[in-house]
Amino acid sequence: MQKITIQETQRRKDKPADEAELGFGTLFTDHMLVMDYDWGQGWGDMRIVPYGPFQMDPACCVLHYAQTIFEGLKCYRRADGGLQLFRPVDNFERMNISAQRLCMPQLDIPAVMEGLKALLRLDAGWVPSAPGTTLYIRPTLIATDNLLGVHASRSYRFFIILSPVGAYYASGLAPVNIYVEENLVRAVRGGVGFTKTGGNYAASILAGARAEEKGFAQVLWLDGKENRYIEEVGSMNMFFKFRDGLVTPPLNGSILDGITRRSVIQLAQAAGYPVTQRPLSVDEVFDAAEAGGLDEAFGTGTAAVISPVGMLQWRDRVIRLSGGDIGPLTRQLYDRLTGIQYGTQPDPFGWVTRLD
Ligand SMILES: *Cc1c(COP(=O)(O)O)cnc(C)c1O
Repeated sequence: MQKITIQETQRRKDKPADEAELGFGTLFTDHMLVMDYDWGQGWGDMRIVPYGPFQMDPACCVLHYAQTIFEGLKCYRRADGGLQLFRPVDNFERMNISAQRLCMPQLDIPAVMEGLKALLRLDAGWVPSAPGTTLYIRPTLIATDNLLGVHASRSYRFFIILSPVGAYYASGLAPVNIYVEENLVRAVRGGVGFTKTGGNYAASILAGARAEEKGFAQVLWLDGKENRYIEEVGSMNMFFKFRDGLVTPPLNGSILDGITRRSVIQLAQAAGYPVTQRPLSVDEVFDAAEAGGLDEAFGTGTAAVISPVGMLQWRDRVIRLSGGDIGPLTRQLYDRLTGIQYGTQPDPFGWVTRLD
């Protein structure tokens, strides 16, 4: 297992004065973890160092060809002051799946977990405690060869940075308006839609900006072949509650295998709601809503946890759900999931890793 060396900062930064004012991903803690990989030598030691910029050659291949992957998870402060993580190994396992698709080296998960824990112990004071706040954890892996040929890099840098973040929605849960995008697509089958790689997000920015101009919070993506089947929303997986249960699109290779999605499926089933994973067309959703057969819809993802859909527009058809309010099942799943994450409710699934 790789060694961990720690170089503490000489000057700790001021922490945010008002945790209620925290945004998303704008502030970073005092330290970061860095580990380099070299072809032939494998991974070097993990170094925890003061947070700061990297020096990069302009020919660094990640800047040109986007051989880069990332993850997103959170550290939660319990009411007793202790800290915990939610399904962190699932994130590193998914990162290894992304790495394989992008021709990048595999992480040694137990080693990286030790590195993350050491980093969190050092910057524990940055984990906020106001309701809905967390310390967001961003592990990232980039290619670092300085060459313009298009091929897999031989050297890589893995790093973890930490950012105290506010409640995604000030009220905890707020319904959002969503625009169904018909022309631009995010990902196609056979591509990299199932990985957390930078290019997927670059490809999504134009549609997101256009939807925002029209007053929508998010874009709902359809499949890249028929422009008909629901894929996901922004960086969230989608769930629809019909009369006979919850439906979510299957993991078809072009959507992300969300850890919140997995957890919501298990929680809904444990609460007695059947969940079906099947292709779901946008016309089926609109027809059901117009016939009164669609009760609720919500997105799931680490950043917002669960995001209720208030309104959905596709072409000139508009549907409103739960009277623009938060549906009861959406609320129940949000309360149960956040209860486990913050340690106010029992965790029969073994999802939580305590740091103390
Ligand atoms: C991260 C992400 C999700 C949600 O995954 P979680 O593991 O639940 O955070 C869904 N879709 C996309 C495109 C994502 O990047």
